[in-house]
Amino acid sequence: MPSAAITGGCLCGSVRYRCDEPYRYAVHCHCSMCRKSSGAAFMTWVCLPREAFRLTAGTPRPRRSSATAQRAFCPDCGAQIYMDYRGSGTIDVSVGTLDDAGSVTALDNIWVEERLPLMKGFDGDLPEHRQFSPRS
Ligand SMILES: [Zn+2]
Ligand SMILES: [Zn+2]
Repeated sequence: MPSAAITGGCLCGSVRYRCDEPYRYAVHCHCSMCRKSSGAAFMTWVCLPREAFRLTAGTPRPRRSSATAQRAFCPDCGAQIYMDYRGSGTIDVSVGTLDDAGSVTALDNIWVEERLPLMKGFDGDLPEHRQFSPRS
């Protein structure tokens, strides 16, 4: 039987993770914290069921980015690997860390009130939310 496992890791391979269930949803986030923490114009988050997520190698360095969220980075290469919102049922991994990032379809653009003008029209068929997605 084919495995439904989702696997991924950072650029250098020190930190690896695995999830044995499908992702719940994925969103493009245009908030300024995603921008500053990644250096990119926006981030795409893939939301994995928390109970099915586990680290299989390495220990990411957590960094608090707000009162309710921590972002976890590889201590060696600096890649941002996941976001952990207190009270959330998901661990949200950055799409670029997935081994099979090409299989992900995003459902929403969120925090569009902070979106850069250069992103205007990007994935414009998706529902847009000024702040959080109603799914999260
Ligand atoms: Zn790394
Ligand atoms: Zn964000």
